[in-house]
Amino acid sequence: MPTIYLGLGTNLGNKEENLRTAVGLINEKIGKVVSLSSFYETAPWGFESEHLFLNAAVGVDTEMEVCDVLKRTQEMERELGRKSKSVDGVYSDRLIDIDILLYGNRIITEPNLLVPHPLMTERAFVMLPLAEIASDVVHPVLGKTLAHWAELLKDEATEIKKKEFD
Ligand code: AMP
Repeated sequence: MPTIYLGLGTNLGNKEENLRTAVGLINEKIGKVVSLSSFYETAPWGFESEHLFLNAAVGVDTEMEVCDVLKRTQEMERELGRKSKSVDGVYSDRLIDIDILLYGNRIITEPNLLVPHPLMTERAFVMLPLAEIASDVVHPVLGKTLAHWAELLKDEATEIKKKEFD
């Protein structure tokens, strides 16, 4: 059974609760959650907003086909009340955003689905949480471990704070 890795982000409302609700729904509707990173506070990327993001990564064991995983994550985004999707590449505030980062070592290039997520290795807010739970996993396209790719972003990562919750 492949382990898939999902990236989660939220910058509105009770962000800790949004992430925990999303993780619960993923466990219920996609497959067994086998790993969950710390929650990281990060600055918005690609747009201006006064609302900081809270990001996390989650590992899930599932038999579900990747297109069905995408359908479920999109349903969850709607269910959790995401305000709007990015339009023409412009990003906006959101209650929850769920990206499929990796699906085992598969490479998927469908019109509506690119896995591994093409921007993941450029984004510290994705790679820090992901490398925390999957440091030894090798990137299926670029090779080398996720720990390696996260390390390359360490200068950017100084802006990113691990949040402690009770
Ligand atoms: P965004 O608004 O940035 O979350 O982008 C969502 C759109 O990206 C959806 O229409 C998806 O079909 C598409 N997409 C392509 N690759 C992925 C991926 N790996 N994970 C999630 N969405 C993806």
